[in-house]
Amino acid sequence: MLISASFMHIIPQSFKMNGAAPVFLLAGFLAIYLSNRLLNLYVCQHDQPVDCAEGIIPTPGIGFHSLIDGVIYSVTFNVSILTGALAAIGMILHEFPEGIVSFVVLERGVFPRRKSLRHAFVAAALSTPSGTLVSVARM
Ligand SMILES: [Zn+2]
Repeated sequence: MLISASFMHIIPQSFKMNGAAPVFLLAGFLAIYLSNRLLNLYVCQHDQPVDCAEGIIPTPGIGFHSLIDGVIYSVTFNVSILTGALAAIGMILHEFPEGIVSFVVLERGVFPRRKSLRHAFVAAALSTPSGTLVSVARM
């Protein structure tokens, strides 16, 4: 549903709103594709199970997503208390599942349980307040 919403609505709308949108779309796709390839080449060993790539690659994405979550907290509270509170409710509701997904993905990869927990905490939990602090410092 998310992918079809992107292709059917969001991407065409972004093309109408900004002439540089196709360039940003292509740059984002290439950045994700190349990071995937580089992680496969340099982080995952070839004698490890294929799950290595599946376990490691999504985690930086979740970390970046959570960093943006933190920015959204500060931006929405800057608009109004009500907007911030409504956004915070939605954000808080998905933060816990996000942490669980990070942990499971890492543990199903190659990391032991404790290391998976530590990396999932950094990716899903610690990056959100970091995003808030960075954006508050910039305002
Ligand atoms: Zn999130």
